[in-house]
Amino acid sequence: MREFWIRAVGRCIVLLLGLLFGYAVNALVPALVIACLVLLFGSLRDQYEIVRFDRWLSSTSEGEEVPDGAGQWEFLFAKLARRERTARQLREDLRSRLERMREASRAMPDGALIMSRDELIEWLNPKAEEHLGLDGRRDLGMPVLNLLRQPEFSAYLESGEYSEPLTMPSPRHPGRTLQLLVVPFGDDQRLLLTRDVTQLEKLETMRRDFVANVSHEMKTPLTVIHGFLETLEDGLQDLPPEQSLSFIRMAQQQSIRMQRLVDDLLTLSALETDTPAQEEVVDMRNLLDVIAVETRALSSGRHTVSLQVDGAPGGLLACARDLRSALGNLASNAVRYTPDGGRVTLRWHIEPDGGGMFSVSDNGIGIAAQHIPRLTERFYRVDRGRSRETGGTGLGLAIVKHVLERHQATLHVESQPGVGSTFTVRFPPLRTRRQPEPALAGG
Ligand code: ADP
Repeated sequence: MREFWIRAVGRCIVLLLGLLFGYAVNALVPALVIACLVLLFGSLRDQYEIVRFDRWLSSTSEGEEVPDGAGQWEFLFAKLARRERTARQLREDLRSRLERMREASRAMPDGALIMSRDELIEWLNPKAEEHLGLDGRRDLGMPVLNLLRQPEFSAYLESGEYSEPLTMPSPRHPGRTLQLLVVPFGDDQRLLLTRDVTQLEKLETMRRDFVANVSHEMKTPLTVIHGFLETLEDGLQDLPPEQSLSFIRMAQQQSIRMQRLVDDLLTLSALETDTPAQEEVVDMRNLLDVIAVETRALSSGRHTVSLQVDGAPGGLLACARDLRSALGNLASNAVRYTPDGGRVTLRWHIEPDGGGMFSVSDNGIGIAAQHIPRLTERFYRVDRGRSRETGGTGLGLAIVKHVLERHQATLHVESQPGVGSTFTVRFPPLRTRRQPEPALAGG
């Protein structure tokens, strides 16, 4: 401002000195004319700058620079330009922050919706649109209760009690479950958070089913053992010794069954939680021979068990104990689900791509197609009676699945009821070795 006054006063002094000089040299009239012309020029220039300034003010394009005026306008416009630059910088900052917030809200795995005091939708992110079946452009300003009509949601929103989230079926995707939580904030506004908990719910159901299954599996042999012990206690003197012995043997069988179940549960839990065990190059010849011997022992001559190895068996990089348990499990299933007189064939060969293929074929009872995708679920059995009779726990194929996953191997099942089954395991080429390493060979 001081600069402005200095310039104005400076100009007046120059004008007065000019007039005084004109008076001194007896040329007052020309001096007056020149002074008038200078004043007129100044006024016209002011008018011109005002018009430019007005045009700038009315301009709608945001990047338009403040005009660089002349004379005293120059100083005013420079000040205005500085202020405008600061404001523009501020706007840029705000815009980029807003954009970052928008991106963050788009990337959020949960839905978020802001509603006003009157429960009108003010803002929502794409996840909330997806979860609640809303449209961010169409539904803004609409009452949320008009769009989400589930009675449980209305009751929750109206209750004002938001310490616990509400779990309800998704209004848009049948079979999916949502969890909604209202968080009050600001001036009577509310934030509605939405989360898809379908997977969590499934896990919770699986956990409950698992506990129920284990309890059921344990209860049956325990009840049987308890019954035998009671009978023995009541009639120890009266029962013929051979009958007492048979009760004891049956109780023993049930305890063995429980033992097997606990062993399988521990194996499964170790496979799920422990870090993978030390791997080594397993000599496949040795391992296949051991499995064939065990399979024949289980069959006790009731089946024809054969082992076919095409080409050199080589080695397989694996955890020897887990591999033996998984492949042995498939072989023992073939015996257990094949009536006496049947055939069980174990095969192994290195495929043209270098991968390893192990298969077990039987001509046993077979499996109907609808059961095949569920065979590796814990406690899933097609024929519960036969599984129990043959000492099954319902966990064998679940263990096989985990072991194969650890070895990046796949399981394929082909089966036909009454004809037989083939369980095929494929190991990736990076796990097979042409020659087993003698020092590390195992099985
Ligand atoms: P289990 O201990 O009951 O044998 P598994 O997990 O090993 O449990 O197998 C699951 C179910 O798959 C078995 O109960 C049986 O019904 C079916 N199954 C497995 N292998 C065979 C097979 N080779 N032939 C027919 N059914 C089989």
